[in-house]
Amino acid sequence: MASPFMRHCLLQRAPSVPRTTHLGQRRLHLAPPFLLDDYTPRYLRLSSRDAAKKRSLAYAHLRNCNLCPRQCGVNRHETTGMCLIGDKAKVNVIAPHFGEGHNGSGAVFMSGCNMRCIFCQNYDISHQRNGMDLTPEELGDWYLKLQEVGNVHNINIVTPEHVVPQVALSILHAAELGLRVPIVYNTSSYDSLASLELMDGLVDIYLADFKVWEPSTSKRLLKADDYAMTAKESIKAMHKQVGDLCFTGDGIAKVGVLIRHLVMPGKEAEGAEIMRFLASEVSADCFVNIMEQYHPDAHVGKKRKRRKAPASDGERQDQILPEEGEEEVRYSDINRAVTNEEVSLVRKAAMEAGLWRFCDPPKHDGFAI
Ligand code: SF4
Repeated sequence: MASPFMRHCLLQRAPSVPRTTHLGQRRLHLAPPFLLDDYTPRYLRLSSRDAAKKRSLAYAHLRNCNLCPRQCGVNRHETTGMCLIGDKAKVNVIAPHFGEGHNGSGAVFMSGCNMRCIFCQNYDISHQRNGMDLTPEELGDWYLKLQEVGNVHNINIVTPEHVVPQVALSILHAAELGLRVPIVYNTSSYDSLASLELMDGLVDIYLADFKVWEPSTSKRLLKADDYAMTAKESIKAMHKQVGDLCFTGDGIAKVGVLIRHLVMPGKEAEGAEIMRFLASEVSADCFVNIMEQYHPDAHVGKKRKRRKAPASDGERQDQILPEEGEEEVRYSDINRAVTNEEVSLVRKAAMEAGLWRFCDPPKHDGFAI
């Protein structure tokens, strides 16, 4: 099974960076206007007044958390809401991820999540909440270590939706101490507009999932029937902040939005809808990663719990009685890998809608990032 690092597109290097200098083979997404001469992270351009406003807003959100669509309204200093994380971020892994020929991305995997995807591809991190509690200042110090010791070219915060205030404070702290690499906000897109407003000016790259389209599907598989509606609003807001994905001449992404869609078994028509939405309502120049590595995980394929049969003497016993017509495993419809046809259909819909900047797998044996 791929490591969590490999499962996340960490934006170290544009996968289709040509390995030749032959201009005829140069990919169009590395040409102007998507090619930058130089780049200064947005947090370094914030005025001290705006930084102070963000600090104050972050603390206010922690005292009355309605930061994500779950709208718990709790004081995170005293208790937790649905994400089960209080005022300290819980971090599972902090490490540079090395890509071929480059220094790597500084990956920071947050524990916990505001979603409940039954197929979660990072179940051990997101749902079991393993990790260490860090204050925003300790978290910011880690960004600096990644920059100074790991020599990474970005800080990639994975699953930050439920710890946005802590992340905002950590970036501001690290910026004061010398952070100078771009920030990647690696999200499910189940964000609120309030949290994206807090991140505006702090994030350079939004690496955003768009998972499923139909409310009935998201209700069943993500436990959030408002997922697509929220993701549509969120992605439009992200794009308004940072625009389409741009690179410097070394092929490293510096600013913009990259949308990921994990093709799901039997849900290719929903993938096609997502592609049409991106092309028509976000941007036909949207950089898109259509991913085919779905694998059954978390609750998918697990044996169903069955009722215990009463024993003849009236006591319960452990015998399991299947009911007629009942599935043997949970979510059996997505208990398989996707087919080439399903992936091709989504890709075809994307191209027909006008999208053309795709995050294709590299043609070498290195990481697909
Ligand atoms: S971030 Fe956590 S506490 Fe806040 S609204 Fe979302 S789930 Fe609830």
